[in-house]
Amino acid sequence: MIVFKFGGTSVGSAENIKKVAAIINDCDREKIIVLSAVSGTTNSLVEINNCLANDKKEDAIAIINKLELSYNQLISELFNEESHHLDAQPFIKTKFEELRLFTNEATKNEKIILAQGEIISTNLFQIYQKQLGNSTALISALDFMSIDTNEEPENEKIKTKLTAILANNKAKTIITQGFICLNPNNEVDNLKRGGSDYSASLIGAAINAEQIQIWTDIDGMHNNDPRYVENTFPIGEISFDEAAELAYFGAKILHPQSIIPAQKNNIPVLLKNTFNPEAKGTLIKNCHNSTGVRAIAAKDGIIAIKIKSYRMLMAYGFLNNVFAVFEKYHTPIDMITTSEIAVSLTIDNQKYLKEIVEELNTIGKVEYDTDMSIICLAGNFSHSGKGISAAVLNCLTDVAIRMISYGGSQYNISLLVEKNDKVRALNLLNEGLFVQQNKPQEA
Ligand code: ADP
Ligand code: ASP
Ligand code: MG
Repeated sequence: MIVFKFGGTSVGSAENIKKVAAIINDCDREKIIVLSAVSGTTNSLVEINNCLANDKKEDAIAIINKLELSYNQLISELFNEESHHLDAQPFIKTKFEELRLFTNEATKNEKIILAQGEIISTNLFQIYQKQLGNSTALISALDFMSIDTNEEPENEKIKTKLTAILANNKAKTIITQGFICLNPNNEVDNLKRGGSDYSASLIGAAINAEQIQIWTDIDGMHNNDPRYVENTFPIGEISFDEAAELAYFGAKILHPQSIIPAQKNNIPVLLKNTFNPEAKGTLIKNCHNSTGVRAIAAKDGIIAIKIKSYRMLMAYGFLNNVFAVFEKYHTPIDMITTSEIAVSLTIDNQKYLKEIVEELNTIGKVEYDTDMSIICLAGNFSHSGKGISAAVLNCLTDVAIRMISYGGSQYNISLLVEKNDKVRALNLLNEGLFVQQNKPQEA
């Protein structure tokens, strides 16, 4: 089987949904289609929850009404009269009546409200397939996708449940929701923003798919962040390790964890452009045939913490005590560098910052800076590849670098800079490592 995932823009309008259907119906294989919410919908649902949390129910209802109008417009463009009146219009009407009812118990229904985007898009897509005369099955992600108390996916359970559902389903094309899942209390939950990529990869792993295809609005993984850098280009092929580093460190095209299930099960992931299906895209697979920098990404919202202590000098067990504090507060560390009397590290979760700093203060003198960014260079930096770190640092002679991490893995060099320097750093690295390298040499 093949897993196809389409993101928000791909299902963002009637015209785009028609393109998605054409792509799928062109493939004569057994497949699972994972859909995101129509673009902008999850943001609106987040806004609705924010209004409700601030006791602004009228504002929430106004957003719901506006969203309903946009869906009425979408279905009027997507469906012929018969499908519109029989299926699509009653469905949208009921869904938005429900959404208005959910606002009565806002706290209880927060995650249920967030789940509606994917529930709506998948139902509309199935109705559209029916209009085209194609038989499909719509299965609810809430019947098989689940997370544990640590918010980690329950891989074995997902596999067992999904396998059983598929065994009872004869349709060649199965449609399901990305993003949404159940938590250990059997409540509706989600895999965090952008989580439909993760759903697709988890589903691919659960059914041992032949390939996972992530269809989006760009022709594959680019060598640098196209939102901040001009003249980026798609990479034809990239390894799981490189892609996982890029996703984790900010390449928005992939949810941070989404490569892991595919990598563990050695299932190739193909990134494709819904609006340019002819373009080759990027194939992520088990390969390490290149050396040097393949791509650059950046992750914001980083906090750098420095712990200084003369007790660290020649002592053992110091780092253990530092790590224990982060473990206690379930806060992962991204980067770490040490000197004889200080250790600097970064985290991206502010939730327990106050408590962490208080406890670290009993170990040493603590300073921290917020609003930092990690620049991640992914590639193959095997030890024989000389001059790579020099080439990287040469590009950034004009940028203050707060931390450098090199050698932790063979596939990553990370640099910590102030967020204000991020865009400049990404552009300087692009110029020095890609544009200049590819310029023809003068005779
Ligand atoms: P979808 O809604 O399909 O999940 P996303 O908006 O989540 O799409 O991801 C696609 C976007 O990711 C692109 O439009 C692009 O702006 C952004 N992006 C950031 N870094 C990269 C990169 N290295 N390569 C390609 N796209 C990137
Ligand atoms: N709809 C969700 C979001 O906007 C999940 C996704 O699109 O991947 O975050
Ligand atoms: Mg996305």
